[in-house]
Amino acid sequence: MDHEQLGPVVDAIRAADSVVAMTGAGVSTASGIPDFRSEDGIWTEYDPNDFHISRFRSDPEGFWRERVEMVEEMFLGDIEPNAAHEALAKLESNGHLRTLITQNVDGLHQDAGSEELIEIHGNGQRVVCTGCEQRFEIDPVMNRVRDGAAPPTCGHCGDVLKPDVVLFGERLPEEDLYRARSAARSADVFLAIGSSLTVEPAASLPRHARTNGGTLCIVNFDRTELSDRAAFDFRGDVTEILPRIAESLDEGP
Ligand code: ZN
Repeated sequence: MDHEQLGPVVDAIRAADSVVAMTGAGVSTASGIPDFRSEDGIWTEYDPNDFHISRFRSDPEGFWRERVEMVEEMFLGDIEPNAAHEALAKLESNGHLRTLITQNVDGLHQDAGSEELIEIHGNGQRVVCTGCEQRFEIDPVMNRVRDGAAPPTCGHCGDVLKPDVVLFGERLPEEDLYRARSAARSADVFLAIGSSLTVEPAASLPRHARTNGGTLCIVNFDRTELSDRAAFDFRGDVTEILPRIAESLDEGP
C-alpha cells in the first residue's frame, strides 16, 4: 500500500466537512485482544449464555466470577492502544475526524485520546450501578470479586454493579444509536475500519452514510459485505494503513 493508492481517499477526507469513522474487532486484535466471534475466539471457550443479561439478573454471583475469569484471559499482559487507535486520535485532534463510533469495549480509543467517541457496545473498563447508574473503574471491582465479594455492590446505594457493556439480551443504548446514525447520515466520508460489517448496527451505519451521499472507505484484512459498494476498499493491516492516511493528511496537498 503506497501513498499513491491512498491519495484519493486522503483528498476526499481533506475536502469533506464531516468525516466519521467506525471501528470493529480488527482494531482490537491488533493490540493482542482475542476476537470474540472468530473460529478460535472467546465464544468457543465460554458459553455466551453465561454472559446473558438474564444470567446476570438470576445469578449475579456466578456471572461475576466467570466474567473476571474471562476478562483475565482476554487481557493477558499489558494491553495498549496500537498505531490505528493513535492515528484515529490524531485525525480528530488535527480536525480531520468529527466522530468515532466503535463496536469495541476495550476502552483503547479513549486511552489513545479520542474524544468524540460513541462506544455503542459500552466500555469494559468501567462498571455501572444497576441502582443509581453511577459509573466506576472496573479494576478495584475485579479485585473485590477475586477477594470473594461477588456480586460486587455500589458503595453509594448498595445495588449490584454491572460491567458497563451491552450484554447478550440487552438493547443497545438508544441515545448512542441515535447519535451514531445521525453522524453516519451526515458523513461526507465514512471510514469503516477493521469490521466485517455483518453485525448490526455496524452493518447498517455505512449504508446510512452511502445512501445519504457519503463516500464509503473500507479498511479491513478481508473482503466485507459492502466491499463491492465502497468507493475505496483497502485490504490490509489497519495499523499500517491508518497511520499512512494520517501522515499524508499532515503533509498537506
Ligand atoms: Zn449505586
